[in-house]
Amino acid sequence: MEIQHNHDLSELNTFRIKAKAKLFVEIKNEEELKELFILPEFKQNKKMFLGGGSNVLFTKDFDGIVVLNKLKGIEIEEGDLGTVVARAMGGELWHDFVMFTVNHGYWGIENLSLIPGTVGAAPIQNIGAYGVELKDTLFNIETFEIETGMKRIFSKEECNLGYRDSIFKNELKGKCFISAITLKLSKKEKINLGYKILVDFLEKNSIEVKTPKDISNAIISIRQSKLPDPKIIGNAGSFFKNVFVEKEKLNKLLEIYQDMPHFEEENIIKIPAGWLIEQCGWKGKRVGNVGVHEKQALVLVNYGGATGKEIIDLANEIIKSVKEKFDLELLPEVNLI
Ligand SMILES: Cc1cc2nc3c(=O)[nH]c(=O)nc-3n(C[C@H](O)[C@H](O)[C@H](O)COP(=O)(O)OP(=O)(O)OC[C@H]3O[C@@H](n4cnc5c(N)ncnc54)[C@H](O)[C@@H]3O)c2cc1C
Repeated sequence: MEIQHNHDLSELNTFRIKAKAKLFVEIKNEEELKELFILPEFKQNKKMFLGGGSNVLFTKDFDGIVVLNKLKGIEIEEGDLGTVVARAMGGELWHDFVMFTVNHGYWGIENLSLIPGTVGAAPIQNIGAYGVELKDTLFNIETFEIETGMKRIFSKEECNLGYRDSIFKNELKGKCFISAITLKLSKKEKINLGYKILVDFLEKNSIEVKTPKDISNAIISIRQSKLPDPKIIGNAGSFFKNVFVEKEKLNKLLEIYQDMPHFEEENIIKIPAGWLIEQCGWKGKRVGNVGVHEKQALVLVNYGGATGKEIIDLANEIIKSVKEKFDLELLPEVNLI
């Protein structure tokens, strides 16, 4: 384990923002992690754990220690009633974990194919896509408490997982390192077709779903056609969360905007933030080095050479115009550092 100084983070965040870490270290196993917790450089500095850097925006250099998670390993055990228990270390790439389970024919996370980033970061915002969230299959999460170095296992219920939310974004923000997660997957067919775009794609391409790989392949095709590849253009996926409103507010909005899309989820109504941004005329708009993606209004992009501040300024302009037009508050999904 080698601590580096003034480490460049531009290749370690998918927005490709130039930023430096005062101190930087890569952790490859739990022994190194335990060593790290007692190092003065770690104890005496501000800390940040970094996975794939696909949900962060560096607004300035990080005046502390950045710990890059490289903990690797995937294990499968037989579960009860036609299930398997799949445990992955936090530094595995999420998509590699999905491919591992899909290739074994296990059902559960195929709809979450191609989400960038690491397994360890997945519970932090309870990643979700195409009608599935991590919480649907999560069994438990292994963590280390930063202050004491003690290991603690959280059951799914203890993680307070919600829409792009968890205990790790709230009460335990910055207090735990997630070292591994365990999921319960199904060996029996369990197709989730809760998302219209997926159903339409399968129908249009005459795909009969027989294995989780069929769903995974469809999701990969859909995502590749809609989302910008961070290797080509800097971005962090959806910059904003969708907006949730009460029925009363929705009814008022529908009086003015009859075609406003909305979805009812557990008695609360979701309005797609991308639609709101598009209605304010932002889709495809470029401002200097930054802009709103032409195919997906939720995604802010760095055309090259942008600073974190430029992205924030654009985000603030978008928030302001959505507030003015709809009286709705957009909240960032991306973690601002
Ligand atoms: C093109 C694109 C598409 C995307 N699509 C989706 C999508 O469909 N659904 C979705 O939910 N998200 C999506 N995202 C967002 C992102 O991929 C996820 O949030 C992912 O889980 C982030 O993982 P990461 O390893 O890159 O986290 P990072 O960006 O490295 O970190 C995110 C936050 O978690 C903290 N953190 C990271 N690892 C740990 C750890 N082990 N312990 C404690 N704290 C930690 C960091 O300090 C930071 O605050 C997308 C992003 C991109 C670029």
